Amino acid sequence: MWRVFGRGFNSHRLHQEESRSISENTTWGQRKRFADGKMSLAYSNFLGYKKGSEAGEMEIVEEEAVIVRRIYDEYLSGKTPYDIATRLTEEQIPTPGKKTLWRVSTIVSILHNEKYRGDAILQKKFTIDFLSKTSKKNEGELPMYYIPQNHPAIIRPEVFEMVQEEFRRRQEAGGHAQCVSIFSGRIICADCGGYYGRKIWHAGSKYSSWHWHCNNKFMKRNYCVTPTLKEESIEETFVAAINSIITRKSEIKANYALCLDAITDDSALQAQLEDVNRECGEISTLINNLLTVGSKQKDGIKEINKRYEEHLARHEILQQKRKELSSQIGLLGAKRIQITAFLRELDKLDGLMKEFDQLVFQATVNYIKVNSDCTVIFVFRDGTELSWTIQNGVRKYEKRKKGDYDTSAQTATKEE
Ligand SMILES: [Zn+2]
Repeated sequence: MWRVFGRGFNSHRLHQEESRSISENTTWGQRKRFADGKMSLAYSNFLGYKKGSEAGEMEIVEEEAVIVRRIYDEYLSGKTPYDIATRLTEEQIPTPGKKTLWRVSTIVSILHNEKYRGDAILQKKFTIDFLSKTSKKNEGELPMYYIPQNHPAIIRPEVFEMVQEEFRRRQEAGGHAQCVSIFSGRIICADCGGYYGRKIWHAGSKYSSWHWHCNNKFMKRNYCVTPTLKEESIEETFVAAINSIITRKSEIKANYALCLDAITDDSALQAQLEDVNRECGEISTLINNLLTVGSKQKDGIKEINKRYEEHLARHEILQQKRKELSSQIGLLGAKRIQITAFLRELDKLDGLMKEFDQLVFQATVNYIKVNSDCTVIFVFRDGTELSWTIQNGVRKYEKRKKGDYDTSAQTATKEE
């Protein structure tokens, strides 16, 4: 956070004119500091990096980086931030602040911090009112620098992207629930595109069992006509589907051996990124020159301001482009990782699967789509889609009529 005003400053005594000139000067001073890349990082509370030998440089602390990578891996393997925090606390691994108790929020912030993928965003926030100490999110009032590959990365960009994706998935699946079922956020209603939710039937009795149905099923005026599925039957269906994949294992591997490089080729994007980087560098030099002039000079500040704004506008467009390109490259990398991880997972499976295995499901399935005709489509992590008919434990859509079931209405589309 930036504190731009001096201490002991008394606003009541200032005339408007003076006040304006102070704010203009501090703005220039502030701009200059960002341009110089002065990034403040609280190293003592930051896991994985220490101050490098040169000013502004970040160096990896390998013993800490191991913990950061472990947090990312465990999250991707399906653990919740709560599980991860609990385990780290149990193992008495010191927190970033050298304490003993790991908080869920610490894990979450580590999973979101773009510095671990080697990027830096300077100037996310700034102080707008020193009296009330309010700070504001930078929404373009000051230049915001997104610097890809600013320092050595602890987390590969592809893995970072996968974690952000997984975060979105879990959030949509039910926020910060500490106990997320393996199916949460992975079963999609083909009718409305929403997620299936879990519900217990006959709770407390010996007949109790978990069922899944579209979360919107009973909320909308137009009811979704997708079926309710018994949890065991989803598991059973997955076993059948993965077994059909296992029997085609060598064919799938041979296909990818032929096309994996082509479908994950990022060389055109890399070339574009290089061009953008070059132009960015040129504009940065121009901006820096203006900043040096602007922070010293009093005359002609309007003209300098105007040129500064123009360069800045161009710079921002380029930054945006740079961010898009680097994210596209990251996604291609993520795709490659997903496919190779999927193939590795298949390799591990010796013979057909007999019982449902959560870990295999987690490692191989992106999501399941449920159609109203009681078929499901498994979308595997490599992108393969497989349609399957659920045999048991399916309750088709039934139109409700004041407490009793109208059996003739299974194909009804409207409840009016
Ligand atoms: Zn639905």
